[in-house]
Amino acid sequence: MITNFKDAGDHVILNGAKMWISNAPFAHVAVVWAKNEAGDIQGVIVERGMEGFTTPTTHGKWSLRASATGELVFDNVKVPKENILPNVKGLKGPLGCLTKARYGIAWGALGAAMDCYDTALRYSKERVQFDRPIGGFQLQQKKLAEMVTEITKAQLLVWRVGVLMDQGKATPQQVSMAKRNSCEIATNIARDARQMLGGMGITGEFSIMRHMMNLESVITYEGTHDIHLLITGMDVTGFNAFK
Ligand SMILES: Cc1cc2nc3c(=O)[nH]c(=O)nc-3n(C[C@H](O)[C@H](O)[C@H](O)COP(=O)(O)OP(=O)(O)OC[C@H]3O[C@@H](n4cnc5c(N)ncnc54)[C@H](O)[C@@H]3O)c2cc1C
Repeated sequence: MITNFKDAGDHVILNGAKMWISNAPFAHVAVVWAKNEAGDIQGVIVERGMEGFTTPTTHGKWSLRASATGELVFDNVKVPKENILPNVKGLKGPLGCLTKARYGIAWGALGAAMDCYDTALRYSKERVQFDRPIGGFQLQQKKLAEMVTEITKAQLLVWRVGVLMDQGKATPQQVSMAKRNSCEIATNIARDARQMLGGMGITGEFSIMRHMMNLESVITYEGTHDIHLLITGMDVTGFNAFK
């Protein structure tokens, strides 16, 4: 982490930048994790309008196009000390937020998977080829049967993590497994569902291509697919393969 702040009396001076921030172009406040002079990570609230704080928009996205994304750039921003989050130092702060967000994303990716499955199922009952609905062919039934099986398994996994979370027992590693698995099955299901619609599957008449493109962000943000795999790898082996 390069973004940092230095003590300057009643305020701190913040320098650095963060790329790929959702809502950056119009957010009124940004919660920024940065290193203090001792090297500890702390949360700082930066307000739109503070001198030296800019939020350029990221253009040319083919995924999550309905959501504005941008950078947060801090060039000697004077931040009052009262804007420093008081009760947490170190990675515990940002990781605590991420664990909650990743849990939500594990459900969100399943929503996309369910819509792709439902679209393919309905289409397979209506589209007639060789005198019967394509849903009557074994190859298409295999795809549908596997989709609904994977969705059901993934729902049970995320539901179980939710129950553990309510009891205060869920671990970040369990949340990583759930987020990664939901993204994995959702991207596979979107691809199979799109094929089941043939040429119609690539059009905007149906939601599948939109889900496919959005899932490419979901598989990347809140911890990439690779990093969640390494978290599970470290959890089971005890070895850190990140570096
Ligand atoms: C649409 C969108 C919205 C976002 N919104 C936010 C937001 O609101 N807030 C926020 O903080 N972030 C946000 N992000 C950022 C997101 O979390 C990062 O893009 C993500 O963490 C990956 O970082 P990176 O893009 O720098 O990729 P990199 O870190 O450059 O990774 C590139 C590739 O290398 C792999 N890799 C990296 N390190 C290792 C390693 N040690 N071992 C093996 N493989 C490795 C990664 O898995 C990936 O496949 C958003 C991203 C997107 C696309």
